[in-house]
Amino acid sequence: MNRKVRVRFAPSPTGPLHIGGVRTALYNYLFAKQQGGDFILRIEDTDSQRFVSGAESYIEEALTWLGLTFDEGVSVGGNYGPYKQSERKEIYKKYVAQLLKNGSAYIAFDTPEELDAKRSSVANFQYDASTRLEMRNSLTLPDADVQSLIAEGKQYVVRFKIEPHEDVIVKDAIRGEVKINSSILDDKVLYKSADNLPTYHLANIVDDHLMEITHVIRGEEWLPSAPLHVLLYRAFGWTETMPVFAHLPLLLKPEGNGKLSKRDGDRLGFPVFPLEWKDPKTNEISSGYREGGYLPEAVVNFLALLGWNPGNDEEIMSVDDMVRLFTLEKCSKSGAKFDFEKAKWFNHQYILRKSNSEIVKLFLPVLKEKGIEVSEGCAEQVVGLMKDRVSFVKDLWEQTSFFFVAPAAYDEKTVKKRWKEDSPAQLKELSDVLAGLDDFSVENQEKNVMAWIESKGYHLGNIMNAFRLAIVGEGKGPHMFDITALIGKEETISRLEKAMASIHK
Ligand code: GLU
Repeated sequence: MNRKVRVRFAPSPTGPLHIGGVRTALYNYLFAKQQGGDFILRIEDTDSQRFVSGAESYIEEALTWLGLTFDEGVSVGGNYGPYKQSERKEIYKKYVAQLLKNGSAYIAFDTPEELDAKRSSVANFQYDASTRLEMRNSLTLPDADVQSLIAEGKQYVVRFKIEPHEDVIVKDAIRGEVKINSSILDDKVLYKSADNLPTYHLANIVDDHLMEITHVIRGEEWLPSAPLHVLLYRAFGWTETMPVFAHLPLLLKPEGNGKLSKRDGDRLGFPVFPLEWKDPKTNEISSGYREGGYLPEAVVNFLALLGWNPGNDEEIMSVDDMVRLFTLEKCSKSGAKFDFEKAKWFNHQYILRKSNSEIVKLFLPVLKEKGIEVSEGCAEQVVGLMKDRVSFVKDLWEQTSFFFVAPAAYDEKTVKKRWKEDSPAQLKELSDVLAGLDDFSVENQEKNVMAWIESKGYHLGNIMNAFRLAIVGEGKGPHMFDITALIGKEETISRLEKAMASIHK
């Protein structure tokens, strides 16, 4: 049967989207685009206790920033909605009833206290085939009692009745066949009367079925739930259209020992969230890639390669390349170390690859903040000269401030090393040479200054070092005449004069 590929990213809005979740969304997106399929955003908010306000809009904003547009979802609609599980309550009821009717599920009245008592008296207690007949449920109580308890308004849950001793096989596109014996599974709660809502497991399966999902691509942490999901598909009679599973490898700490956590980010100073997040309860701020100055393209490229590679050495890839090359089979089974330095490297590469006019759009606000008023054309030329020196647009200021403001002081060490006894006199001559130029282009300055140095028999290094100190304030920066051509004749001469007047050894 050939069905249109449909995948979903199904986050629970319990906080900011972790960078691992972003990678899951990205792989779903790449796979959908490659297969000419649909990418759906479904909000799994059936656990009202873990709901965090602002998390849902954060998720959408993060995906939008990264360019991971979805075809169906809460904000864009679609033919399979609603796309938020809390709005699908009525839909699930019917499916809970179906499982009760066909004997795959049963009603359990055990109170939390009764369950706790059981747990403390029976070592490793699990609600399953070995214990369910000792509990208060519709398998042990007469039907009439069950009905009257419900009528009385007693709270209950619906549990999935798992038959033991069966090897359940999960077919996983990344891991092959994963076999798990049903005896280790417990009779999972599928529905709670208290909040009239299904649990994650039931809602997830029903929605994947109703939304005609063909591939479930999600994090490795969901692999232990997969056998239960396979059994649920069977209980509903939906095995034929069960999606293909693909459980993505974990993102590991930079050192490689264990799962990447927010604490690792705090410890080593890098974000683990796409956007900055302010915890609505504690007001604690967690840093984000966007606010950290990352370009979305760089984040996408970096994440794409954490757990997948196209089988060549290519590292810099456009989204189109990734879409073309992506396969689930080439995703790795083992965890991917989160190499944060590599993220910076990618950002640098994308800064280099982006046109100067794109980078200047990001740099102008930084200049504005510093109180610099400059034409876009001028700032763009500065960007062109200096962008190969930075990993972040915001670091351009430190590298380029001397283009926009004259040095207020002169670096002492450089003065000691570079400012010679005859520097003031030589710079005066240089200033005269420059003042006489009508054409202040890089080439014309260079030609005339070199001719003057040669005619006087001066030491080239001495002149240029003192010149740099006067214009930049220290020993750094690009080619001197690139700087002076940009700041212009008047400014160049004024800086030379100021240096002659104020640098003393
Ligand atoms: N709601 C689950 C989550 O928060 C979805 C898991 C799945 O994709 O099945 O990740």
